[in-house]
Amino acid sequence: MNLVLLGAPGSGKGYVSSYLKQNFGFNHISTGELIRANIKNKTELGIYAEAIIARGELLPDDVIMKIIKQELEKCQNSNNIFDGFPRTLNQAKMLQDIANVDMAIYIDVPFEMIIKRVESRRVCATCGTMQISQEANGKCEKCGGELVQRDDDKPEVVSRRLKVYSDQTAPLIDFYQSKNNLIKVDNSGSADYLFAQIDRIVKDMSR
Ligand code: AMP
Repeated sequence: MNLVLLGAPGSGKGYVSSYLKQNFGFNHISTGELIRANIKNKTELGIYAEAIIARGELLPDDVIMKIIKQELEKCQNSNNIFDGFPRTLNQAKMLQDIANVDMAIYIDVPFEMIIKRVESRRVCATCGTMQISQEANGKCEKCGGELVQRDDDKPEVVSRRLKVYSDQTAPLIDFYQSKNNLIKVDNSGSADYLFAQIDRIVKDMSR
């Protein structure tokens, strides 16, 4: 089974992915995480991608498709969640040619709320866990590592990313809707409310 998670940056795609992974055994494929790992390891892809990510822009579709094909070769038989992919209509069409998308889950959050959440979003420099922290020198609740702000979570980059999302990724909502393949969840409330909606979707899909 393949699920696509759609939503603006900071809408909670990573959060929902972790929940689906922990509770339902999904394999999590995040193009953003894969690219960040390449940046950390200073691979050719990482060196190429670093400046693009820092500007809040998208990597070219062919580069992303290469990453996805490599991942899919490793996880042909798993239940996969695609987090942050596809991000353009072209990517969605290319995904269609290589895998069946059972459902796209669109995580809806008002932009004003996203901007507030992303401001306090931090990532652990050691284990990579994402957390919300208002403290200046917060520590990771999982491993005690240092919490840092992603460069692309800085306010000026976030507004650029939201614009890129509106222009290039939001049209995918209509794309999957037109295939009767879209379910919307509301992430403007509590975590319990969000996860109850996710539980219902997974239950309905496994019937
Ligand atoms: P994310 O962690 O999903 O927000 O991704 C971080 C950054 O990686 C994005 O702002 C893009 O620069 C790049 N990126 C991740 N996924 C894609 C994709 N599917 N297409 C193009 N660029 C991507």
